[in-house]
Amino acid sequence: MTETVDALAGLVAGGGVVVLSGAGLSTESGIPDYRGPSGAARRHTPMTYQVFTRDAQARRRYWARSHLGWRVIARAAPNEGHRAVARLQRGGLVDGIITQNVDGLHTAAGSAGVVELHGRLDEVVCLDCGNQTSREELDRRLREANPGFDARVAAVNPDGDVDLADDEVAAFRTVDCTFCRGGMLKPDVVFFGETVPAPRVARCFDLVGRARLLLVLGSSLTVMSGRRFVLRAAKLGIPVVIVNQGPTRGDGYATLTVDAPLGRLLPALADRAAGGADPGAVAAGLTGVGR
Ligand SMILES: [Zn+2]
Repeated sequence: MTETVDALAGLVAGGGVVVLSGAGLSTESGIPDYRGPSGAARRHTPMTYQVFTRDAQARRRYWARSHLGWRVIARAAPNEGHRAVARLQRGGLVDGIITQNVDGLHTAAGSAGVVELHGRLDEVVCLDCGNQTSREELDRRLREANPGFDARVAAVNPDGDVDLADDEVAAFRTVDCTFCRGGMLKPDVVFFGETVPAPRVARCFDLVGRARLLLVLGSSLTVMSGRRFVLRAAKLGIPVVIVNQGPTRGDGYATLTVDAPLGRLLPALADRAAGGADPGAVAAGLTGVGR
């Protein structure tokens, strides 16, 4: 792995790095890929905005599963990978962080100004009045409305990613917005079939456009929502480096691809890159590392 880290460090040490991270960065924090944009490990068909808003039974099932899964998200802590990214940012090498993850773990690890492309699971929005509340508050309300529900189901599925029986779903009670009294609540994340708000996308394109290097961490770039930034970088002649376990749909655009566990590789990279930028090494890295 040493040679790989050296090559990677040579590229990163020049600074101007924009990070694009995906679910693979958070799996070592014990977070299953619920929303599933990078989805190799996806166990369930992802919820779409259209189904969520139009199908009351599907919505009830979503909230019942999500209510259980929230326990896993709420207790998740940043891992060595998130901390290494924060360290690279503090060291002045990373100029921007775009994440497809909805777990808030980059920020929890100490990174600043993270663009959360797909929103955050710890926030809830009312689709009728737009009022935003915390997931913590919603969790409290759902627990009150469904006493004993999570204890009953969690006994069977400790990881929180569950296939609920129809009668369990039917017994689950969802809650509505208390601000406008009756509005439909949704986690403030971008579902499939929903578009990322335009100003947020514009901010990402701006970051990518000014990058010296786009560093993809833990995303298979399956969905266009994230892949478009790789395409943009490639079009602008900005080198793309991809670190992911398994192939990605951006590999053909990458200067360097690395298949390694992020929790091990990124701390080594942060140690090495912090050693100081060597413009010669950067130039050699850019030209010497082929596809
Ligand atoms: Zn409302």
